[in-house]
Amino acid sequence: MTDHNGSITGIVMESGTEQSRISFCNNISTVSGSYVLYWMRNSHRAVMNPSLNLAVDIANTLRLPVLVYCQPDHDRQCPCMRQYRFMIEGLCDTRDQLMDKGIAFMVDSVAAGIDLSAVSSGAAALVTDAGYLKHEREALEHAIKVSVCPLISVESPVIVPLASLSGKEEYAASTLRPKIKKILHAYLNPAPDPVPQISSLKIKLPGSAFKGEQHLLTGTGPDPSVGAVRGVRGGYRCARRLLDDFVTRKLASYDKDRNDPDLDGTSLLSPYLHFGQISPVEAALAVIDSEDENAEKFLDELIVRRELAFNFVRFNENYGNIKSLQSWALDTLMLHSADKREYIYSRDEFENSATHDPYWNAAQNQLVSEGIIHNYMRMYWGKKIIEWTVSPENAYEYMVYLNNRYALDGSDPNSYAGIAWCFGKHDRPWAQRQVFGKVRYMNDRGLKRKFSMRTYLEKHLHVK
Ligand SMILES: Cc1cc2nc3c(=O)[nH]c(=O)nc-3n(C[C@H](O)[C@H](O)[C@H](O)COP(=O)(O)OP(=O)(O)OC[C@H]3O[C@@H](n4cnc5c(N)ncnc54)[C@H](O)[C@@H]3O)c2cc1C
Repeated sequence: MTDHNGSITGIVMESGTEQSRISFCNNISTVSGSYVLYWMRNSHRAVMNPSLNLAVDIANTLRLPVLVYCQPDHDRQCPCMRQYRFMIEGLCDTRDQLMDKGIAFMVDSVAAGIDLSAVSSGAAALVTDAGYLKHEREALEHAIKVSVCPLISVESPVIVPLASLSGKEEYAASTLRPKIKKILHAYLNPAPDPVPQISSLKIKLPGSAFKGEQHLLTGTGPDPSVGAVRGVRGGYRCARRLLDDFVTRKLASYDKDRNDPDLDGTSLLSPYLHFGQISPVEAALAVIDSEDENAEKFLDELIVRRELAFNFVRFNENYGNIKSLQSWALDTLMLHSADKREYIYSRDEFENSATHDPYWNAAQNQLVSEGIIHNYMRMYWGKKIIEWTVSPENAYEYMVYLNNRYALDGSDPNSYAGIAWCFGKHDRPWAQRQVFGKVRYMNDRGLKRKFSMRTYLEKHLHVK
């Protein structure tokens, strides 16, 4: 066995993974054990996955097998059957990809009560994906306490690692963009995926071998009342098909079409990116390779906007509630919180699309039936909840509840940043008005002026 002076640091430095993605989480540096474990948390893929690649590189250097362990936490990752099924479908593709590489794959729900320490007790090294949300950071803290081997976290969910950008909350896209642009080129040339030298397919650890879609039937599952979205399947294969379709058919008019609710002008990749079923680097490279002039606009959404959201949840402990806002936004909303509202709806009325506004009801119907709302309508949907709710605190709570319960891409950093944006986060003050104060307002006249809205209403107003 090559032991690189018995230290993990040297092995990691010689791996093909960008060093700035990597953090050593505990003080253990000596490697001894009979396998390397990749604890897969939010990068559910075996293609272009820097965490998996690092685990394979370490295993190859040590001449050990590598195994993958995934422990979904449904309460936090997928509260309803819809997200859970999408995730499991994705894990089926991951299992197939891992099997092709000779890597064993185990999956246990957090609810099964198997502690990571039991699965990793014989590991020479434990590698995991960086997590940005509070529950993901807490899970890593727990792993640090129980690990008995080097624990290494890799920023595989993002293109540019947050650690190389700023150690604080960014004010807006305009403050983050130049920092990203300066170093982006370094993250768009990933090393090829390494292949394990030793198969782990016959190795048995305390975790359960992944049973594919049967996993849907076992254990105390997520809420079954919000079922699967018809016609949408999770997994790398579907994500790659959507990406190819986007590049060949939609990218050329992305800038023009992406905001029009009557058109299907965006990539629809967000649920796949949410579960890490496709690498954001893979999506970025496909778009760059097309040499289309709209590439820049798409990359701004995929990289700057998305990473602003990751920065928000990482550095703002209040990302799930109204205290996360900048003081100008919070103050102005509070100053206007007693303003008279023309309409006030309960959470149930919102949930049942029972408002007076056909555009809003159509957006909510789309969320319930398709697990997504068109990007432009998502903003309208959020702004109107603020306008028709008794207080901004309630509006925030309702939005988090509805978004995360029904959206396939819910419970994501983007979910929290998108909701906070409706309340003025990452935006600037606008002209003062009732209820919103200086927070940007949207109305249906704007929708009708900019778009026909006919197709959107026909498709979503009466469908549930
Ligand atoms: C109230 C509200 C709630 C939202 N909830 C979510 C959510 O739960 N999950 C989610 O992923 N996004 C959310 N967004 C952000 C945005 O609406 C979606 O990311 C986008 O519509 C996804 O569609 P797409 O994949 O076709 O996007 P495309 O236009 O094809 O963009 C490609 C990728 O870029 C990223 N992106 C695009 N727009 C944004 C944006 N404004 N902010 C951050 N990243 C972006 C996403 O990862 C997206 O998949 C929300 C926005 C608002 C206003």
